Amino acid sequence: MGRPNVGKSTLFNALTRSRDALVHDEPGVTRDRHYGFCRLVEDRPFGLCDTGGLSGDEEGLAGATARQARAAVDEADLVLFVVDGREGPSAIDDAILAWLRKTGRRFFLVVNKVDGLDLQTVLGEFARYGVERVIPVAAAHQRGIPELLEEVVPELPEDGDAAVLADDPHRIRIAFLGRPNVGKSTLVNRLLGEERMIASDVPGTTRDSIAVDLTRDGRDYRLIDTAGLRRRSKVEEAVEKFSVFKTLQAIETCQVAVVLLDAGEGVTEQDATVLGLVLQAGKALVIAVNKWDGQSKYQREQTEGMLVRKLSFCEWAERITISALHGTGMRELFRAIHRAHASATKEFSTSEVTKALEIAYQSFPPPAVRGHVSKLRYCHPGGANPPTFIVHGTRLRVLTESYRRYLENFFRKRFKLVGTPVKFVFKEGE
Ligand code: GDP
Ligand code: GDP
Repeated sequence: MGRPNVGKSTLFNALTRSRDALVHDEPGVTRDRHYGFCRLVEDRPFGLCDTGGLSGDEEGLAGATARQARAAVDEADLVLFVVDGREGPSAIDDAILAWLRKTGRRFFLVVNKVDGLDLQTVLGEFARYGVERVIPVAAAHQRGIPELLEEVVPELPEDGDAAVLADDPHRIRIAFLGRPNVGKSTLVNRLLGEERMIASDVPGTTRDSIAVDLTRDGRDYRLIDTAGLRRRSKVEEAVEKFSVFKTLQAIETCQVAVVLLDAGEGVTEQDATVLGLVLQAGKALVIAVNKWDGQSKYQREQTEGMLVRKLSFCEWAERITISALHGTGMRELFRAIHRAHASATKEFSTSEVTKALEIAYQSFPPPAVRGHVSKLRYCHPGGANPPTFIVHGTRLRVLTESYRRYLENFFRKRFKLVGTPVKFVFKEGE
């Protein structure tokens, strides 16, 4: 958090960048610029929120624009208060600082844009703030990022819950996600109310990440709960707010994300945010279009067409129409969850993936780009969740985006991969 122009979004991008992004920058792909994961520290991914600019005046800190920022600060484990090292402390910074102190939240002072400046002088200017932890960075040049991470990581809460939740490997971990009112708790209650179902809380989890185990048709699942799905009373219902941090946490912990949409409302911006986060995390995805019961035949056709258009960026995800209220579509939903899970965790041999690469390459070799032609030599599996293929070859720099997509589609078809992202890593060399 910080006032406008200090470099918050530059820092956010530096922390959330990933070398092999699964989310391509292309039309239709949702990329929420305010929320993301930092995966720069191995095994310690964490969620980040860029609160946008706070102007710091009465209006700025109390007004509607600041509400989201305050909500994010409330939820956060740690706040990075970003200031501009070039301009030094300003009145707005003073106001934000005073406000942060009042919230009682733990925060670090991040002094940005220190490139080309004398560090002692800059830090001296902010000394009167009396903040214990001051970290100089130059976000635009990726400088100071490792030092920043070194300070941040020990402040993150212990990963206890995630470990507890993953301790039962034979259970498929499912998160039901979506904005308020799409029908998440109706769906979960419906599932828990089914007669042949045995459900119980997962012991050892804390209040914030409640999970429920259930057995359905002889299969074991663990439902990761984002918003106290089961215990919501009528009174609480009115105040439930969309918590992106909780959503991030649930995505991180689950194996299959079921994102609910409301058939009557299509794909809203918040829906797109949730879908974008699932993609960013590389998780298996099933899209459940809920409230299908309330739609006329004509509306259904309209909705189908609109969904095809708006969800083109994750067309590999299966779309199931359901009614949580009436319990229709449940069997199909669970079948799709199984297909997505099986695809995401499938194991491959080097020979079968190399064979696939050879066939793909021979039936349609990459086109020449400015006189250069990529050569693809062999392939080996690089892990699951999502399925990853490591392709070795030469002149891979000129491999076009459309050729990469061709390879992805070829592998998807050949290995019947549905409901999961597929990742290719290209390695230059013989
Ligand atoms: P935000 O409004 O706080 O999100 O700020 P932005 O990230 O949009 O950055 C505001 C301006 O500061 C942009 O022109 C950036 O290029 C510039 N900027 C960001 N980080 C640095 C840095 O480390 N050094 C310098 N010199 N400029 C930076
Ligand atoms: P949540 O905030 O995502 O947990 O949503 P809720 O489960 O509380 O549902 C919000 C509203 O949508 C409630 O009034 C539900 O009765 C209604 N609802 C949920 N699922 C369906 C459905 O399949 N069909 C219809 N018509 N209404 C539904």
